[in-house]
Amino acid sequence: MKKLQDKVAVVTGGNSGIGYGIAEAFRDAGAAGSITGRNQLTLDSARQALGENFIGIKTDVTRISELERLFRQTTERFGKIDILVVNAGGVVDGVPMAAIDDMTEAGFDQYMDLNLKSVYFSVQQALPYLNDGASVILIGSSAAHRAVPGMAIYGAAKAAVVFLAKALSLDLLARKIRVNTLSPGSIDTPVFDKLVPAEHVADVKKVWINITPAGRQGLPSDIGNAAVFLASDDSAFILGTEILADGGMTNIS
Ligand code: NDP
Repeated sequence: MKKLQDKVAVVTGGNSGIGYGIAEAFRDAGAAGSITGRNQLTLDSARQALGENFIGIKTDVTRISELERLFRQTTERFGKIDILVVNAGGVVDGVPMAAIDDMTEAGFDQYMDLNLKSVYFSVQQALPYLNDGASVILIGSSAAHRAVPGMAIYGAAKAAVVFLAKALSLDLLARKIRVNTLSPGSIDTPVFDKLVPAEHVADVKKVWINITPAGRQGLPSDIGNAAVFLASDDSAFILGTEILADGGMTNIS
């Protein structure tokens, strides 16, 4: 029997990068479920590639009403939700991550809305639909542990996500809902095209590889494999904690 046989998952931001890698790993482990994104084109092609056991639900995770609709429609289609991966996040459209002297108040709010507030409300809006015993996985970042130039607000939001997993695990003990953070290091996804101009992407990736003891960027499948473990009963005794999937960047570089 596959590790996630008959399980139903929601993966926010499953139309791209890490989220798509997680959805693929879940599918291969026997799960069905829904993926989200705001971009209908990438959502449609990701859903098609995942196959008939997945649906795409266009969702802006910074809008609470859209989150409620996401979980309601997933439950209407599949009857339950066993796994929630809160992955959508990262770079805010049109607002570069910036050093403190260049960050506006509006930019600060948008980064917090996407990388912290939407995480909290994703869990809150899922609760009426989540099975008791569900596994909730919050996608954090090694940037919560290692200061990176220009990433102060993003790193602070992700550090708060690590704490949310602890506090929410406590709040949800009675329902045996486990909440953990899965924190990637540098993973090869389209996010680099959003962070820097195209001509600098290769050089920026090299900088990240240089501070990654594993000697390479991670792949979305590296995070997908770790997510299958956290979603499955193999991790039944793991709650309120963080797993770093960062090629050693945080602890040994
Ligand atoms: P991508 O840019 O490839 O994916 C980001 C995803 O988030 C997309 O699916 C995007 O879909 C979705 N998204 C962004 N804004 C919104 C929004 N307002 N509402 C709904 N969906 C939204 O990046 P990654 O795959 O690299 O990042 C995924 C997660 O991993 C993020 O939380 C990021 O912080 C984290 N991470 C990534 C690392 C890396 O090196 N790549 C390292 C550490 C953490 P759409 O644009 O269609 O809405």
